[in-house]
This record gives sequence, C-alpha cells and structure tokens, in this order.
Amino acid sequence: MKFPSAFCHLTFAFLLTVCLSSCFLLGIHVNVKNPNRASKYPKFSESTKLLGSSNKYRSCFNVTYYELNIYVDHTNEFLRGVIGMNATALSDLDTLQIDLHQNLKLNKISFKGKELNCSRKYGAIYVAMPEKILKGEKFKLTIDYEGKPHAAKKAPWDGGFVWKKDKEKNPWIGIACETEGASLWWPCKDVTDDEPDSAAINITVAKDLMAVCNGTLRDKEEKESLTTYKWFVSYPINLYDITLYIGKFKLLADSLKMPSGKTLPINHYVLPINYEKAKVHLAQAKDQIAFYEKTFGEYPWYRDGYKLVESPYEGMEHQSAIAYGNGYKQGYNGFDYIILHESAHEWWGNSVSASDFADVWLQEGFATYAEALYVESTKGKNAYYNYMLVYRLFIANKYPVVGPTGVRYFDYRNNDCYQKGAWVLHTLRTQIANDTLFFNILKSFQRKYKMKTVTSQDFINLVNEKTGEDYTWLFNQYLYKREAPFLEYYWDRADFFYRWEYTDATFKMPAEIALDGLIKITLKPTDKIQKIQIDGKAYKEISFNNYTELFGIKENKKLMKQFKNR
Ligand SMILES: [Zn+2]
Repeated sequence: MKFPSAFCHLTFAFLLTVCLSSCFLLGIHVNVKNPNRASKYPKFSESTKLLGSSNKYRSCFNVTYYELNIYVDHTNEFLRGVIGMNATALSDLDTLQIDLHQNLKLNKISFKGKELNCSRKYGAIYVAMPEKILKGEKFKLTIDYEGKPHAAKKAPWDGGFVWKKDKEKNPWIGIACETEGASLWWPCKDVTDDEPDSAAINITVAKDLMAVCNGTLRDKEEKESLTTYKWFVSYPINLYDITLYIGKFKLLADSLKMPSGKTLPINHYVLPINYEKAKVHLAQAKDQIAFYEKTFGEYPWYRDGYKLVESPYEGMEHQSAIAYGNGYKQGYNGFDYIILHESAHEWWGNSVSASDFADVWLQEGFATYAEALYVESTKGKNAYYNYMLVYRLFIANKYPVVGPTGVRYFDYRNNDCYQKGAWVLHTLRTQIANDTLFFNILKSFQRKYKMKTVTSQDFINLVNEKTGEDYTWLFNQYLYKREAPFLEYYWDRADFFYRWEYTDATFKMPAEIALDGLIKITLKPTDKIQKIQIDGKAYKEISFNNYTELFGIKENKKLMKQFKNR
C-alpha cells in the first residue's frame, strides 16, 4: 500500500510541481533530520505475538491450497463461510494453530468429516488432530465460521471491511487487511512466510451484485436470489492480498503485448459511471507494467492476468486484482501514483515478499524506488533526483528501517520503510557506480526469489555476491541503525575538518564536496576526524553533494579543537 496522510500528498504535489517546473536540484537545501531520541515501539500484546510469531504449532505444516466459500450478506454486513485448508505436515504433528479474528465465531473445524476439538486464545485457534499426522502427510481441514467482520477505520492503512455505496447508491464493498492479516475476515494460517501455491475464492452475493477477486473468473452460479462468483488464483499468493470487491462493475477488457513477447490479459473492473473515464485513464498502466517488466523481469502472473478494480478506498496491491480508488486523478508527473506504486508491488511484495514485516522495506522501499525509476525513464535523470529529494523530506529516522520480528509489525505511520527504503537503493546504486550491475542485481533478486519470501539478509548476500564486495557496512547503517549518517565539518579557511557522525567504524561511504561549485573533491570520511587543506583565499565557498546518497550535513566548530586534542 501507499504511504498515507493527506498532508503528505499535498506537500508532495506542491514540492514536485516546484521541483519539476524549475528543473534544478534541491541538493543541500534539503537537510536530513535525525531526532535526538529514538521513538519507542508500542508494547506488543499477547494477541499480537500469537499472530506474528513463528512457533511449533505453525512451523509443523505448510499450506498448499485454500478454498474460500464465503457468503457476504451486505445488508447485515455479515459473513458466513466454509474454508478448505489443504496442507502438508513438515514434521509429525498432533496440534496446530490457525487464526481467526476474535470477533468472528468459529462454528466448527472438521477433518475427514469429523468435528475436531479446538481451544481458542484471542485470535489463535489450537486444533487437536484426532490422530498423529506424520511428516510429509497431506491433510485437509474444513473450517466453518461466521460473524460481523471488523469495519475499517481508515482503509487501507487501518484495515477491515469498507461498506460503502457508490454514486448511484449501489453497494460498493471492499476489504484491506495488510497490517491486520487475512484472519481479520477468514480463518487461515495467518503468517507472512507461508503462501499457498494456489487458491479458489468463491464469493456469494446478492444476485444484482458482482464479486471480483484475485486471479481469473472460472465460473458463476446462480441460485435463487444469490450468485456465486468463482475466482481462481493459479500462483502462490500472500494471504493479505486475497481480497474481494463487491458492487456493480463493468468490465474493461484489454490486453498488452509485453516486452517479453508474451500477451498479458488485462481485465479492469470499474463502476459503470466511470467507464469512459477509466478507459482513458487506466491505459497508462500498460506503459508502467511494461517498464517494470523490462527493469525487474517478467510479469509474475501471466495466467492470472493484470487488473485494476475500482475500490471504495485509495489503493492496495492485491495480487492480480489491484485496488484502485484514486478517483482517476492524474498526478503531478503525468501519471497516477496509485497505479504506478501498487503495480510495482506485483514484483516487490506480491512475487518477492518479505517473510516477516520487519523487512517490509523489501516491498514498500522497492515499490517506492520503482516509481522513481519510472520517472527517470520517462523524464530523465534530473526528474529522478528531484523525485528522490522530495521523498527524502519524509524520512523521519525515528526507528531503524528493519523493525521487530515475530509481531507482524507494520506501522503505516512510520514512513521510513517507504522513502528511506527507496533511498537505501538510491544510495546503493551510487556506491556500486555501475548501472548495469545495479540493475542486474535487482533483476537477479527478482529471478532468484520469484514467488518466494525473503529477508533483508537475502538481499544483502546477493549484493555482496554480485558486486564481489562487502556492503554490510552500508546496510548496517541504513537498515539496522536508526540515524542517517551526518557529515560533520568545519572550515577555518585554511583547513577543512570532517568526519561521519552517527556511524560506526565500519561505515566507509565517500562524500563529495565542491569548491566554488567547480572543483570536486571526494572525501573518505570515517568516524574519526580528518582534515585537508583548503585555502580560503583561493576559494570562497564549499558545497556538498548529498542528493545521490542519504546523509545530512552539519557544521561543528568543535571539530578543529577536537582534532588538535586527539
Ligand atoms: Zn506500497
């Protein structure tokens, strides 16, 4: 999902308009902020830990296939469902954990037609199997549940069901649950590191409505006053990506010959009233996904196709059924950033997925950086730098980019997994100083972990392997430490003193300065103070280039004295 807040969007719009129209680099005018104190993570409740943790009741099995059969009673905002969960035992097991939000009622869980004993703690349901399931054995549970699902306060960030009416007063319903997890609305093994290989999503709604889900529509069954829409996802899928949209939609069918030579089916679903507008506006997605395929590798879901579905909330990366709710607004750069951002998630987030949300920058940072790469390809290098500089304004440095593990931690108010995550890649690109190699790394990462879950360490290992150098110092600073490095300096018009602040001894990023804007000097600062001679009679001004790497700049008169007292 996209980073939130109306403030962000307005500021972003304004700044981008300024930057792009005046075509100059903001450069040193934009400094980095490092708050003195780290912000504290919330206290994680027991229910959060039960949802986020990896434990023996979860690691003992792997889900291979889900079959969702859910009736959505929109009048009463009520769900009734039967979920089939097919799994393979990874070790011998007699008890396992599945999850279902506390406000939904579990009717029964059956195995081979017999009802099983279960106990429940918050959202965690411990299922006692009537017989030991041996390692390697396949088994199926059928889970019957019902209830009034949690309604979203501010979807997609504060997720849940959105029960709305469109302009023509028809029901218009959606669900977003990235932060809360899929068990917010259906029972499942709600972890980020176990994706089913495929899923059937059968949604029953009132006859005059339509249900749109991920994948392809295989069948439609009408029975009295109800219709069941049978969708099928033929690839692995993140559970929070599994979704539904209910309303009156009109299909906007299209296709695209992609750079790979393959033809991608495109089937957008939009509100009929917006059909003509959508036809023009949504066409931009073609250029964007073609660009992503060229840059990151083949589109991951050819069988399932690509589609945008008009949603009653702003946007969400739901695999092969992206939520689009940005009101057909063209952005400041000539594109709709919801389409651009959420589509990038098909590669970063949906195909390559963080195995724990601690590493969610691998989804959000990469998708945010993908936007900037698209800007670079369409508007050139200066526009790319400006795009990144505007994003730098949002970097807060209140927490490290990589968050706590085992608690499904993804706080949408902490933007750094987005913009700082993108700056990690921007900085890495500058350090590698070889675009062929840098883009090869992005493609290789995609190819190696396509449809798999990953950690930051997987990415770091790949960078080190591909470059033949050890970039651990860079990732330690930018992912695991909270503060951005600062170049501290002092120029007494004879000597120029400098060092890195907020770094450890391993941090070895060079920094560029310019004398009177002309003579460029590359410094090799460390956490120890160094000096070079710069004649104040020959040069009037020293400027700093920090638009290609993430660091702040701070003058500190004490450096001279500290250097002498070493
Ligand atoms: Zn996102």
